Amino acid sequence: MVISLRRLNWIRDVDPLNNTITVEAGVILADIQARAEKEQRLFTLSLAAEGSCMIDSNLSTNAGVTAVLRYGNTRELRLGLEVVTPQGAIWDGLRGLRKDNTGYNLRDLYIGAEEGTLGIITAAAMKLHPAPVAHVTALAALASPQAALDFLATAQRYAGPLLTGFELMSDFSLHLVTTHFPQMRYPFSKKHGQTVLLELSDSESEEHGPRVVRTADGTCNGARTGRGRGRCGELVAVAGVLESARTYPARSGRAMEGLDIKHDIAVPISRIGPSKQPTRS
Ligand SMILES: Cc1cc2nc3c(=O)[nH]c(=O)nc-3n(C[C@H](O)[C@H](O)[C@H](O)COP(=O)(O)OP(=O)(O)OC[C@H]3O[C@@H](n4cnc5c(N)ncnc54)[C@H](O)[C@@H]3O)c2cc1C
Repeated sequence: MVISLRRLNWIRDVDPLNNTITVEAGVILADIQARAEKEQRLFTLSLAAEGSCMIDSNLSTNAGVTAVLRYGNTRELRLGLEVVTPQGAIWDGLRGLRKDNTGYNLRDLYIGAEEGTLGIITAAAMKLHPAPVAHVTALAALASPQAALDFLATAQRYAGPLLTGFELMSDFSLHLVTTHFPQMRYPFSKKHGQTVLLELSDSESEEHGPRVVRTADGTCNGARTGRGRGRCGELVAVAGVLESARTYPARSGRAMEGLDIKHDIAVPISRIGPSKQPTRS
């Protein structure tokens, strides 16, 4: 059965004080972001298909991309749902409450259910956040995935909830980017094994975020010079939103070399470094 919800595309309500937006299932993700921005709010879900994908599909697949570290998957952004059940009844759970202790949490059954097998989502009440005053993006070069994990721990310590994105790219991936996007040059003065793309959303000032990134980087480099052990390498850019806009299209670009084999693998962060043999006592 094919059901099109394209015409269910009304933004029913925006409540800046409650930090919620209530939308019908067929509203395009980018339109939700734009409406939130108009109210000086941030709708934190952002993914490559945002100009065409509809919010019902994000809910149904429990999507989450660049800002999952800070705001979680789509499930964490929903407050209420309206669903048409397979029996044709309307299940009305469209509440914008943060504290909602009323019985079973049926909403979560419909999120990540895929294919609409448990029901068709027709509307959703979603969380908004105050718009940050500045976005800061930085690229840091590191020797290994383990060094990147150390840098993540330092960045979390200094930036706390400001840290919205932390993405690890191998040198091979960067090499492919600079080969196929001639406008992008290799950002470091010499080769490093890994690159981290770090993103901060700051509510204090334009200057605050870059200071936090430099302090975190300084702490890592201090560890290197002080104890003779390489942790962080180079920090090349601490820039505003323009830098981030330039980097992300390359990240989500289509395959331009070899075969395109897609993976969507999730592992605990602590397992990203070198594999550890289980210890027996
Ligand atoms: C398991 C899974 C996880 C994904 N995770 C991510 C991710 O983390 N990041 C990312 O960028 N992309 C992710 N995607 C791709 C994601 O589907 C697209 O990014 C985008 O949401 C697709 O938009 P669309 O409008 O074309 O959706 P469609 O392809 O039309 O729908 C996607 C899925 O949602 C179901 N669905 C659509 N509308 C409803 C509805 N009203 N009620 C119930 N079910 C409905 C469809 O049956 C289909 O299974 C994921 C896909 C899947 C299958």
